[in-house]
Amino acid sequence: MISAALLRGPRDFALTQIPEFELADDQVMIQVAACGICGSDLRYYHGENPWALHTLGISLPNPPNIVLGHEFAGKVVNAGAFPALEGKRVAVMSFKTCGMCESCRSGRENLCRNTVHLGHGAGWGTRQYYPGGIAETCPAWGSHCFELPDAMSFEQAAMLDVVGVGVHAARVAGVRPGASVVVFGAGPIGNAIMQASRAMGASRVFVIDTYDVALDIARTCGATLAIKAGHVEPVSAIREANSGNCSFAFDTVGTADTLHKCIGLLAEGGAIVNMAVHDMEMPLKPLALGSERALRTSCNFLPEEFPLSLSLVLSGQINVEPWITHRFPLSEVEKAFDTALNKERHGAFKVMIHPTSGA
Ligand SMILES: [Zn+2]
Ligand SMILES: [Zn+2]
Repeated sequence: MISAALLRGPRDFALTQIPEFELADDQVMIQVAACGICGSDLRYYHGENPWALHTLGISLPNPPNIVLGHEFAGKVVNAGAFPALEGKRVAVMSFKTCGMCESCRSGRENLCRNTVHLGHGAGWGTRQYYPGGIAETCPAWGSHCFELPDAMSFEQAAMLDVVGVGVHAARVAGVRPGASVVVFGAGPIGNAIMQASRAMGASRVFVIDTYDVALDIARTCGATLAIKAGHVEPVSAIREANSGNCSFAFDTVGTADTLHKCIGLLAEGGAIVNMAVHDMEMPLKPLALGSERALRTSCNFLPEEFPLSLSLVLSGQINVEPWITHRFPLSEVEKAFDTALNKERHGAFKVMIHPTSGA
């Protein structure tokens, strides 16, 4: 038996003893050393299914008994068919695509409808329990484990999933050298987009949030200007600091208000990338997208972007250390979720669980 953070149903969440998962032929067993709590984990907690909304474009219920957590790293304790991985410290890419569908065969693996995703209920068929990273051990695909250089910590490695989402979004937008970028929402995804844009050559990166902790972390991570929404009128403040509109706008909030601010700040030929697709109506004048302005969404990341993210973190081009504000052992996972669910009360940004010492 192993201890695992089990979501039995909406808001029914507890540390529970469950049988250790069996290894499939293509899997290795990871002793989890670090696992981040993601915004998606909180959406699952509330009964939403963000995976289905973003990947399938539909709203679906979740199955019961999901072990949450998909941002994790650890040590290989059973290498199965991958003896070279025995005892290695690894970062885990938490999703596996089918390789056979139209999306997979056209280089859009992130849109594979048959994706099997650790910490998410979808793609596994019907099981008693669905595996995830907030547990003492978790099976992962050998081909999806990346050996960590000594200089990279388990916590940094656990953040590669978040970095990958930011890298993909910046590539979807087409961020290029000299670009100016604005990001609405300075949470971990917004911060990752900001830093990925910088790494791809953006000259100026502006972020807007209401949360002081996120704004301070954005400044530490290299924001040109981090603006407190509600305090300052962000559209004119950014226009002034940028001497005009921005080439790219990222919306990690996804409300009508942030969409309209993105449109208001977008230069001719620019692109808006919506990172938070909600099931709701919002008004949009097609005229606002004249002059070849584009509105897109971005979903997860491509397999090749995981090792790219590892390189960007290892080289220091993307700094994830300031993100981690709270650390908890697995025994305090309920407190950890309370901290993440009430981040402003606790001053939290990224909450990290350490299921085992990982030594
Ligand atoms: Zn995540
Ligand atoms: Zn596929």
